[in-house]
Amino acid sequence: MNRAINFSPGPAVLPVEVLEATSKAVLDFNNTGISIMEISHRSKEFDALIKETQQLTLQIMGLSPDEYSVLFLGGGASLQFLMVPMNFLRNQADYVNTGAWSKKAIKEAQWVGKTNVVASSEEAKFTYIPKDIKFTPDADYVHITTNNTIYGTEWKTIPDTGGIPLVADMSSDFLGIPRDFSKFHLIYAGAQKNVGPAGVTIVVINKKWAEEKGNPNAPTMLNYMTHIKNDSLFNTPPCVNIFVVNQTLKWIQKQGGVEAVYQTNLKKANMLYDFFDANSDFWFTPVKNKEDRSIMNVVVNLPTPELEAKFIEEAKKKHNMTNLKGHRSVGGIRVSIYNACPLEWVEKLVKFMEEFTKVNK
Ligand SMILES: *Cc1c(COP(=O)(O)O)cnc(C)c1O
Repeated sequence: MNRAINFSPGPAVLPVEVLEATSKAVLDFNNTGISIMEISHRSKEFDALIKETQQLTLQIMGLSPDEYSVLFLGGGASLQFLMVPMNFLRNQADYVNTGAWSKKAIKEAQWVGKTNVVASSEEAKFTYIPKDIKFTPDADYVHITTNNTIYGTEWKTIPDTGGIPLVADMSSDFLGIPRDFSKFHLIYAGAQKNVGPAGVTIVVINKKWAEEKGNPNAPTMLNYMTHIKNDSLFNTPPCVNIFVVNQTLKWIQKQGGVEAVYQTNLKKANMLYDFFDANSDFWFTPVKNKEDRSIMNVVVNLPTPELEAKFIEEAKKKHNMTNLKGHRSVGGIRVSIYNACPLEWVEKLVKFMEEFTKVNK
């Protein structure tokens, strides 16, 4: 297998052993003689798989199944932008605007009801995380985006909401950085960045909150209680995707859990940021505050767009490094280094960056 060095922001690289286990299960799931694509979601074998995946998720997050439910839903993280306010925005909700994904979440909330944008970094092109935010005392919830995939910023310290339920879009740093997950009432993440393929969204939700505060009139499929009551088996779930998430969670556990994975993630990120800071007359990091720099998506600029294009092209031609182009809305270079991106890839990349600097500066 000739693996490309893939720095894609998502769908992103998965561990090879996860791909191998999946290719086996596509032919024969757990010696049932049935493919994971063919097996009934009501079979005892699949039931065991989905239950184990839910348990593993909570175990890795350090949460109790008495308090939280794990749901595997369709519609991407983008559908959660709507589902969250549909269920929980009864009077008003607070949102922090830290980028394009936050804005999309805000747009859906505004469609549902009163939405307060209590802080924003838009005036500085989303290059920092707002601090010292004043929340609305009787807001139904506060919504944040923990990692801003496009701009390379990340919340390292979770804000104190003074008891207001906290909801987070963790799509691009879920299980890549240790957090006190019990501080959140609802966490959602499209799987395709850190924990699986596109097509399944993981929702970890406080059951009591959903029971007591959720809108009972929300449409059936968009009502969290529907999925909580049915252990995420109200309708046919994305079975293959859940298998891949299961395998990725086991891989995380084998590495030593989130803390161990995080230590490697930190090394990868620091390798890049240290190089940029040491060569700051050629490599420009838009995120100045070190605390706010993402350890998942590292964004950087060269002196001209032409040099950036040259760097991206040479990385591909010489080293088979792909997907280094920044998001179309901001340009530049973006290196996505999620959990499954090996340390050696980043070492190789930094070596190439050194060479490129020597020749082009
Ligand atoms: C990728 C991403 C999304 C969109 O996820 P979909 O599953 O494509 O809807 C939302 N939020 C963040 C932070 C992302 O990185």
